[in-house]
Amino acid sequence: MRRAALLRPSVRTLESDSLAATEMQVRLALEASGAAMWIIDYARGARERFDARSCELAGLDPNVESWPPGTFCNLLHPDDRALMQAACEATHAVPGRGPLVEYRIVRDDGEMRWLQGAGIVRRDVQGRVRQFIGVSVDVTERKRLDSKLRATIEKLGEADRRKDEFLATLAHELRNPLAPIRNGVQILKLSMGTDETLVRTVAMMERQTSHLVRLVDDLLDLSRITRGTVQLRTSRLALSEVLSGALESVWGPSSAKQHELTVRMADEPIGIEGDRDRLTQVFSNLLLNAVKYTEPGGRLELVSRREGSDALVSVKDTGIGIPKQALEHIFEMFSRVRPADADAGAAGRGEPGLGIGLALVRQLVEMHGGAVSGRSEGLGRGAEFIVRLPALGELAVSPAAWPAASRAVEHAGEVRAESSMPEGSSAVRASAGRRILVVDDHADGAASLEALLRMLGHEVRQARDGIEAIEVAQAFEPDVIFMDIGMPRLNGLDAARRIRELPLATRPSIVALTGWGQDTDRKRSEQAGIDQHLVKPIELAALHRVLDPTR
Ligand code: ADP
Repeated sequence: MRRAALLRPSVRTLESDSLAATEMQVRLALEASGAAMWIIDYARGARERFDARSCELAGLDPNVESWPPGTFCNLLHPDDRALMQAACEATHAVPGRGPLVEYRIVRDDGEMRWLQGAGIVRRDVQGRVRQFIGVSVDVTERKRLDSKLRATIEKLGEADRRKDEFLATLAHELRNPLAPIRNGVQILKLSMGTDETLVRTVAMMERQTSHLVRLVDDLLDLSRITRGTVQLRTSRLALSEVLSGALESVWGPSSAKQHELTVRMADEPIGIEGDRDRLTQVFSNLLLNAVKYTEPGGRLELVSRREGSDALVSVKDTGIGIPKQALEHIFEMFSRVRPADADAGAAGRGEPGLGIGLALVRQLVEMHGGAVSGRSEGLGRGAEFIVRLPALGELAVSPAAWPAASRAVEHAGEVRAESSMPEGSSAVRASAGRRILVVDDHADGAASLEALLRMLGHEVRQARDGIEAIEVAQAFEPDVIFMDIGMPRLNGLDAARRIRELPLATRPSIVALTGWGQDTDRKRSEQAGIDQHLVKPIELAALHRVLDPTR
């Protein structure tokens, strides 16, 4: 019995053992984490004690056992004293650990360190504060990297903004030279005879100009989308109507490559809510890619159907296909399948392009609450792109939009290509004989538009700036004014405003013809009394629509 009692350790021994163990654990944790500890001993006249790591960080002598009150406070960076005061008060106010704070200390040698830490208050049984214990870690290096990273991100953001602005300006600037080139091509087209070489050359020039215009449009859209300035003008639409619009842009190119283009529309009308132009852009981008990446004689297919509450559109081709590893990247900005991804046999990869089209498609589809995906069995095995958009419950659009495209239509591209060319002699006659004022400080742009309009049978005058425009408008009394916006002396918006105040016999139709085509630009035109806002370079079909709105 006595023996057993001797072997059993007393309660006091056990307690002191576990206290020693806890202390060991704390010391190990402090050392392993590189944490520093300091204590303010209120029981000893608020003298302060710093452990070895604290002394190292603060540049204090580790042999000094305790320091006078206020030592820690004096180490604090002046800008952080209020913060630490508040943290200290908060720690006294709550049981347990106080808030975690980041603060700076400045050593005697002038070196500054960032610390992160928290404190805790120890009280006696009467609740009086006996000690304030603080533990901190050195985060100077992390802070330095953080601020370096922030500066780099800011710099990159700034460079990115400048790049976007540059792209927007570049695209705008490119429109000015493109306008007279496109006008010139139309003039050649209207005046050329039947010389085969000439006909082929003009057709080639027209195709390449359209290609350039599309590249410029993509560049502009890219900068708008990255700057988040794209606004959708949504309305209730018939999907078939949007698809028919998109098909307009592919009949020509697909017939040129002798593709067999099949269109199968859903049996029932499908209504969607969206921006007609932007959705048309989505599907014409996909269709034009199908044309671009399919060898001559290949097959293309456009199919639409309803699936549950979604409208589904598939654009499929038998073209060069997309390698598996490239599929997941093709919707990223500037992503193009490189020959390295598409090894030998990837003929046709040399197609021109910026790698923007599919990125735009995805952004626009997602802005409509939809999704787009791409599929391909691999190289040489064609590709399919599927767009899913939320469908409306019931269709509330004009029935006129429906019948033409509602049936399954199968035909070869060439047949439709002819009917997609509205410019012809009948069009010329229909809108001839109007009095037109062309206002543009870009001499070639004005001269070529004037020449084109004269060929179409109109009476035309020119003005080089806003002031001249007002004078000519007064004397000439035009039916239609094509007005550039950015001009010296008086810009197009102010000129339009002042023309609207003139006592003219008939109200001229004012059409802005400018490189700037953002929604804000359109709104400004509207506010200035401008009837229509068109972006350079104008297409002949658009010109006809302006001059003869009944078309
Ligand atoms: P771009 O055609 O200007 O290069 P896109 O963003 O439209 O840019 O397309 C990205 C890439 O995806 C293309 O470079 C092309 O390699 C691939 N791609 C797109 N559509 C097809 C398709 N129908 N068939 C094969 N490859 C395609």
